[in-house]
Amino acid sequence: MACRNLCERFDSRFTVGKAHYENGNKYCRRCEVYFFHNGIFCPCCGMALRSSPTSRKDKERLRQLKIKVKEQDKIIRIITGIKK
Ligand SMILES: [Zn+2]
Ligand SMILES: [Zn+2]
Repeated sequence: MACRNLCERFDSRFTVGKAHYENGNKYCRRCEVYFFHNGIFCPCCGMALRSSPTSRKDKERLRQLKIKVKEQDKIIRIITGIKK
């Protein structure tokens, strides 16, 4: 199912402003909107929604985790490169 533009009505960027991260809003990657919704699927396109990190701490942890994964990936690439 594609975006039917229903999401524009839910888009919290317009209704809540900057607070879209702190309200436990969810993000639809297909519609590219943040909105508050109780279900796990987008009411507009039916795609599974991603919930935003609720606190700054969580966001920081997520960021650190991403960096770690990146580093590990780099190390693995170096190791496998030497082996070849
Ligand atoms: Zn949509
Ligand atoms: Zn959607």
